[in-house]
Amino acid sequence: MSVLVMKFGGTSVGDLARIRNAAEKVKREVERGHDVIVIVSAMSGKTNELVGWVEETSPLFDAREYDAVVSSGENVTAGLMALTLQEMDIPARSWQGWQVPVQTTSAHSAARIEDIPRTNIDQKFAEGMKVAVVAGFQGISPEGRITTLGRGGSDTTAVAFAAAFGAVRCDIYTDVDGVYTTDPRIEDKARKLDKIAFEEMLELASLGAKVLQTRSVELAMRYKVKLRVLSSFEDTDDNSGTLVCDEEEIMEQNVVSGVAYQRDEAKMTLISVADRPGIAAAIFGPLARAGVNVDMIVQNISEEGRTDMTFSCPVNQVARAKDAMDKAKESGEINFHDLVADTDVAKVSVVGIGMRSHAGVASRMFDALAAEGINIKVITTSEIKISVLIDRKYMELAVQALHDAFGLDSAA
Ligand code: ASP
Ligand code: MG
Repeated sequence: MSVLVMKFGGTSVGDLARIRNAAEKVKREVERGHDVIVIVSAMSGKTNELVGWVEETSPLFDAREYDAVVSSGENVTAGLMALTLQEMDIPARSWQGWQVPVQTTSAHSAARIEDIPRTNIDQKFAEGMKVAVVAGFQGISPEGRITTLGRGGSDTTAVAFAAAFGAVRCDIYTDVDGVYTTDPRIEDKARKLDKIAFEEMLELASLGAKVLQTRSVELAMRYKVKLRVLSSFEDTDDNSGTLVCDEEEIMEQNVVSGVAYQRDEAKMTLISVADRPGIAAAIFGPLARAGVNVDMIVQNISEEGRTDMTFSCPVNQVARAKDAMDKAKESGEINFHDLVADTDVAKVSVVGIGMRSHAGVASRMFDALAAEGINIKVITTSEIKISVLIDRKYMELAVQALHDAFGLDSAA
């Protein structure tokens, strides 16, 4: 029997009518002969409400109780989905994470799935159950406490089930009809991609294309799970949406597949630090311990043993970064003349596995930005990505110019 995993996000199960609509899609797959594992999110807005209640009750909350409360949104949807399917005469039942059990680490609110034993669900399938509706986002720790996987974690639940059950595919139903070359709200010529490679999706996911939780893409890549993103509000078939897959499965490949952006970045420069062995460790150690997510790093040339060190981080971490640097200075770990923060920058990136085999992507990118008079402040590159930091007010313009320069509005 072939297992299909279908995941429905918060807006796809936002009210009873939408749950019914999702159940219709499940029914169709059952009729096509699949055993279906449905992973559900909480109804849209529910998790935020639960988080709010926890924070209001106890600002320095016990993370175990946070998980107990916040995981409950998914339980409601799982039960309602099972009931809806039963009303359609489909043998279905709900499963909370601990009943499967979805075994996780004890890192409350950011737990990782360690194992999903198949025995319990397989037994029910063997007894005639057609659909297992599993509450996403949650599991159980070795200590027997309920855990959650971090915001957006239901995607990861879905991929983990697909891997554990050797599913033919993992379909992620959401409120958009696929993965786009860039954000359609910024560039109306953005085009839906039929296929995208895992590695590209990882870059796009972590760069702020919010369709999938990054961790779920990592997991899909590791276990070679065929992952598909599609809309729950449209008629869909086997070719709908965007398939996230191995790059070998993509025949025609654009050099660049997408343009991503991160609006709220900051650029910090430590002016005149001693250029000596260990200085980078002395700067970035305290930043990491303060929870600052440093992204780009540039060390300038040094003169007379002193240098400037520039890094970028999210704008809402600037105060924390400053504090960490001031403390490191007070304690004598580092010495710098000044710390300058530019909080009006954004990051724009082009991503594509085709870059590995094509030269000239960087110069094409820089030409396109120059033609719009956009100044580049920091550049970083990886094998399949080039990112630049620019003034935030030019972000939209840069995304549009790059989308155009790499011909992303025309099919590959
Ligand atoms: N309900 C959780 C959240 O809003 C998990 C998910 O929907 O993926 O983050
Ligand atoms: Mg989500």
